[in-house]
Amino acid sequence: MSLSSVPKDMRGLRACKMCSMVKTFDQFLFGGCDNCDRYLRMKGNRDRVTEVTSSNFDGLVAMMSPADSWVAKWQRLSNKYVPGCYAVSVTGELPQDIMDSLQDKGIPYQNRDNSNR
Ligand SMILES: [Zn+2]
Repeated sequence: MSLSSVPKDMRGLRACKMCSMVKTFDQFLFGGCDNCDRYLRMKGNRDRVTEVTSSNFDGLVAMMSPADSWVAKWQRLSNKYVPGCYAVSVTGELPQDIMDSLQDKGIPYQNRDNSNR
């Protein structure tokens, strides 16, 4: 697994609102989200990172082999996601314009907020 997908630091961690991947703000800023940057385009865009990731999340699970991971099934994560750390629940929604553009492209978006289940 590539080191760029693993949080370097427990401070400043944020979770992607689309796939729930957890990295630091700087890692999202410099590398984008490993799973969704082609849709969310947060790389190099500080405001976008703030919008599409959340510092308010619960739980942290490491997923090493998404293809046959019970964690992936339990968390309803796609088996196409890269190995890394994922949040159990992410509070907050993507901005409306981003949700609209995902819908236009036929990309399913699932809210990752499981905190009130
Ligand atoms: Zn993501």
